[in-house]
Amino acid sequence: MIDFSKSKRWFQLPKDSIYLNGNSLGPMPKNLPHRLQRTLTDEWGEKLIAAWNDAGWMEQPLRVGEQICPLIGAESGQVIAGDTLSIQLFQALSAALNLRPNRKVILSEIGNFPSDLYIAAGLVRLLDRDYELRLVPTEEISENISSEVAVLMLTEVDYRTGRRHNMQALTRLAHDVGALTVWDLAHSVGAIPVDVEAANVDFAVGCTYKYLNAGPGAPAFIYVAENHLHRIEPTLTGWLGHRAPFDFEQTYCAANGIARMRIGTPPVLEMTALECALEIWQHANIHDVYRKSCELTEQFMAGVKTKCPELSLVTPINASERGSHVAFRFSEGYAVIQALKARGVIGDFRAPDLMRFGIAPLYNDAADIVRAIDNIAEIITNKLWDKAAYKKRQLVT
Ligand SMILES: *Cc1c(COP(=O)(O)O)cnc(C)c1O
Repeated sequence: MIDFSKSKRWFQLPKDSIYLNGNSLGPMPKNLPHRLQRTLTDEWGEKLIAAWNDAGWMEQPLRVGEQICPLIGAESGQVIAGDTLSIQLFQALSAALNLRPNRKVILSEIGNFPSDLYIAAGLVRLLDRDYELRLVPTEEISENISSEVAVLMLTEVDYRTGRRHNMQALTRLAHDVGALTVWDLAHSVGAIPVDVEAANVDFAVGCTYKYLNAGPGAPAFIYVAENHLHRIEPTLTGWLGHRAPFDFEQTYCAANGIARMRIGTPPVLEMTALECALEIWQHANIHDVYRKSCELTEQFMAGVKTKCPELSLVTPINASERGSHVAFRFSEGYAVIQALKARGVIGDFRAPDLMRFGIAPLYNDAADIVRAIDNIAEIITNKLWDKAAYKKRQLVT
């Protein structure tokens, strides 16, 4: 069992602030600067080019992938880290489509994260004209999983509402009609227990700067099920996914296993930050984190309901149907979030009217939740959000 009263000290958090935005950017692990400094001075600085071999830089994406495996219920050798989530999604989706050459439909939902939809639409444009990205309302996904569908592409936890899909049930429906699945775990990994093996998922991707606290722009990851791993041809066939990159052959020949999903030179500094951030999970268990997250979330939802009836909760009440963030609808939500920020309570806003609060028990506790509720209540009750300065939209909301 994690001692949650101590885990908060693993992170650097600004004094007097309640950070409820780890669902967008996790806080910095305190030992991370030291670790990066060592990589800079002892590895890059001292070893220069030799560090690719001697400091293990070349194998690092695989090593980091191994650390991610247990967090998503993957067996060893099925996850690799690198690139961004958008790129990994492209890799996963295009590889999945190649496995179903006679089907032309990518099924997803209206309201899925825009980058996921843009990437899928871009891929459809690149392929021949018969391909289709079919978007349906959430409640009609099941009935639209037909034998036309090549790939069901969904995000497990909705970035706005926090609503969680039943990954296992939807994957089973897809497999029943011969379709494959690509799951985006951006708001799942590090927040809720994920078991891609039990759910029989074909491909999964996720990012590491949210609940895995690896820093802005940290590398993403990709998971490929064992039964596909040795058959797929990646679409982005970069040299580091080649069987023998340093043979410099003129034709591509995919590496064995998950290494074939590599593309180009890995970002060693970001990868090192990620490797360091993942060490936290040697001391933290996702089931403990999730249990505590449910407790804090219930406390938060109940407190807001009592003290601010003006806010309407859009996150499911039932714990099994949500991730680890809570969203409320309020027409002046943007201004409320700014007013909260001015008081050290950090959440964020998603257009047109959602206020989001991420709950991460590694550094959020019951006292934080009380303070957040009290501040939200004061701001709403006394209309403290009603100031021009709070209504001016910034680039990042
Ligand atoms: C955060 C998030 C992304 C971001 O993708 P990047 O390539 O890392 O910018 C994509 N999809 C979902 C569902 C997300 O929540």
